[in-house]
Amino acid sequence: MDKKKIKEIFHSIDRSFFLGKDERQYAFLNMPLPIGYGQTISQPSLVLKMTQLLLPTKENKVLEIGTGSGFQTAILAKIADKVYTVERIKQLMEVAKEKLDNMNFTNIFYKVGDGTKGWKEHAPYDRIMVTAAASAVPDDLVNQLAKGGRMVIPVGTPNLQELKLITKSDDSVINIKSVGYVRFVELIGKYGWKNR
Ligand code: SAH
Repeated sequence: MDKKKIKEIFHSIDRSFFLGKDERQYAFLNMPLPIGYGQTISQPSLVLKMTQLLLPTKENKVLEIGTGSGFQTAILAKIADKVYTVERIKQLMEVAKEKLDNMNFTNIFYKVGDGTKGWKEHAPYDRIMVTAAASAVPDDLVNQLAKGGRMVIPVGTPNLQELKLITKSDDSVINIKSVGYVRFVELIGKYGWKNR
């Protein structure tokens, strides 16, 4: 799918639907906003940028780490064939799932747990989108990326990360490219930060 089509799909989804009632009025702002449990929904321009970098197609099986509000999940599920999404905070997952069910998605599969280990049962994935800050690229995610696949992941310190685009060629050669600086909430788990 080309970047223009991705942008159209992005604009077809109402961000305010994924916010709580107090934050809803700020949905139009190009800012991250709180979604509870110390987590945030990303700023919309970054959601679009990361989706365009990931470049999912309608045939793709996508793994998403950090469901959060479910906003990014909805965009991915409108584009791709199947989306496997993992979130460590059960309460956030429940709220996100209810919203996505209301939108009648039938191609989203949910798991509560440590997404830094991926979701082995359904691997390999054509695309992997990580929307929390990793301290290093998780080996398990690289291993679960299909040949010819693409992964987008912020890697760095808890305060600042480099957004990385990781591609795996048809002969399994890994290429890592930095595409800018971002600030995400921490990825907590085996390949992330400790829960403080
Ligand atoms: N894409 C989401 C971003 C949510 S913020 C949105 O637009 O709403 C990042 C999310 O990653 C948080 O909900 C946080 O709980 C989750 N997270 C952190 N570490 C995780 C891990 N190891 N596995 C799965 N989810 C994780």
